[in-house]
Amino acid sequence: STQPAVSNFADLALPEPLQKALADVGYETPSAIQAATIPALLDGRDVLGQAQTGTGKTAAFALPILQLLDMNNDRPSPVALVLVPTRELAMQVSEAIYKYGHDLRARCVPIYGGQPIGRQIDALSRGTHVVVATPGRALDHIRKKTLKLEHIQMVVLDEADEMLDMGFAEDLEAILESTPKERQTVLFSATMPPRIDAIARRHQRDPIRITIQRSTTEAGTSPLVKQSAYMIPRHHKAAALGRILDIEAPE
Ligand code: AMP
Repeated sequence: STQPAVSNFADLALPEPLQKALADVGYETPSAIQAATIPALLDGRDVLGQAQTGTGKTAAFALPILQLLDMNNDRPSPVALVLVPTRELAMQVSEAIYKYGHDLRARCVPIYGGQPIGRQIDALSRGTHVVVATPGRALDHIRKKTLKLEHIQMVVLDEADEMLDMGFAEDLEAILESTPKERQTVLFSATMPPRIDAIARRHQRDPIRITIQRSTTEAGTSPLVKQSAYMIPRHHKAAALGRILDIEAPE
């Protein structure tokens, strides 16, 4: 990347309510991917990033999305579309956008397969700034014209390699073809096989390439991963772990 490294959120030209949101959630310094991605996106560039979960990649695209919003419309049509492989990730990314965009009164609708489509149609028709979707369901809504793409300024493909592995390649192509040509395109993937490069070549404009290794945690610091402790009697330990695995459904 040709971007200068940024060590402070204040150095990123983010609007005041976003700076406040970051202070509220307790983020002090941008992670490496945020320091590289946020200035590039604010500058109007496309980004092709190799980064895994735990690097802070969600905020790296969520914050630039949130500075696109036009708050002067009661029934906004989406300016950003985030495509993710799974329903869990759709909910997680939506929650992050909601959390950072709360003071801006940002609206974000997650849409994924398995949820009744009627409810999603209602939510979309009320107006939203951001849609976070799995590709199949996004395409259903695009074909029904319940998801309108004409005001889309940014498309994010999050965990693009997973989406390809799940067989979403054609859906992704169709969706990208339906969005305005002058949009910005962000592509994050844990791995960079040739198929990802091909999508980038077809759908991105001179992207800034960013590679972030999952950092090994230094002694005395915490990784950027949510950690929880459950205090339970020893004899409930196995049953409780079973319940947690059911709920979290980790891969
Ligand atoms: P992600 O890689 O986007 O799934 O983020 C991993 C975790 O890091 C999430 O729990 C975020 O809330 C947290 N996080 C993201 N950016 C920062 C930051 N700059 N400082 C501290 N925590 C962060």
